[in-house]
Amino acid sequence: MLGLYVHIPFCSAICNYCNFNRGLFDAAQKERYVAALLTEIRARADGSPADTLFFGGGTPSLLEPAEIAAVIDACRQAFALAGDAEITLEANPETVTPERLAGFRSAGINRISFGVQSFRDEELQRLSRLHSAARASEAFSMARAAGFENISLDLMMWLPQQTVAHWLESVDALIALGPEHASMYLLEIYPNAPLRDAMARSKWSLAPDDDAADMYLSGLDRMDKAGYVQYEVSNVARPGRASRHNLKYWTDGEWLGFGCGAHSTRHAVRWKNLASTEEYISAATAGGRLTADRRPLSAEEQLEDALFTGLRLNAGIDLRAVKLRYGADVWALYGGELQVFVEEGVLVYDGRSLRLTRAGMLLAHEIMTVFIRSTVR
Ligand code: SF4
Repeated sequence: MLGLYVHIPFCSAICNYCNFNRGLFDAAQKERYVAALLTEIRARADGSPADTLFFGGGTPSLLEPAEIAAVIDACRQAFALAGDAEITLEANPETVTPERLAGFRSAGINRISFGVQSFRDEELQRLSRLHSAARASEAFSMARAAGFENISLDLMMWLPQQTVAHWLESVDALIALGPEHASMYLLEIYPNAPLRDAMARSKWSLAPDDDAADMYLSGLDRMDKAGYVQYEVSNVARPGRASRHNLKYWTDGEWLGFGCGAHSTRHAVRWKNLASTEEYISAATAGGRLTADRRPLSAEEQLEDALFTGLRLNAGIDLRAVKLRYGADVWALYGGELQVFVEEGVLVYDGRSLRLTRAGMLLAHEIMTVFIRSTVR
């Protein structure tokens, strides 16, 4: 079944490390944008079955509950959205109130994903986040009180000035709240990020690489002990609570993206919508072309994608499924170069699947280059 993704590109302030497709909130522009989204969804209606809908951003929780309800309704009319579809809203802690959360719930949202990033106030301030640790905990409690039984919290590690002990404080605070799902990412600071200047000005530094590896491994170890199950490089969940939507990206699934900059992959074709919010609104309103880039995926690209994303999963690459779908014998193609990783204990090959060990996940990029090198040759 399809996954549906809706991009909401508005934020109350721009975080100093953020490289997403977003801009500052403008109420008038938001209204025009929601109208454009509804137009796009209706124009692409084909009644196909879908079982996930994900509002990502940006900060989707800046939309009014009635606007979220209108988008969900448009998706229900345009596609055969399953009765038990997973419908996720990404939210920033400072944007929610009990009333807004109740509104999102009655609009049809049944999963909420809070961008917490850290439970230490000085770290949040260094990242120019608008919320405090206390506000994040309060938002979580409000969401529970509003009836959300499926909540995810995002944390980031390897923050400026962060030690392993600081990181584990955030992990422990997350565990104490008891969400159903958690994402734990290493902060990547892109070349022109304002955070780089802030770090230079304030003489903030990053912990050594070994400490970053320790953060990753010890954080996951605590999540294991608390009963969470890692299912992807950066994601853990209570049993049965893995993100059904994100799994479509990682298991060779198909999805349609709506809104500016949204990507879609379907029938071996990939396309991307216009990235600029204003250009997107103008094109959607005028009934014009919304896609900036549309191309069929070659058989090699599809295989490469399946290998890349499969290796991100704890279950690994299902070699038989790849053979059936792409006719490729992965071990015959790449085994010669992968053997060294198996011998180092960072990759497991058992004839049926190929998967990274947890230590191997730290080397995922290096191991995946084998697939690129081999495909290029
Ligand atoms: S809230 Fe999220 S999308 Fe918005 S600027 Fe911050 S990191 Fe970027």
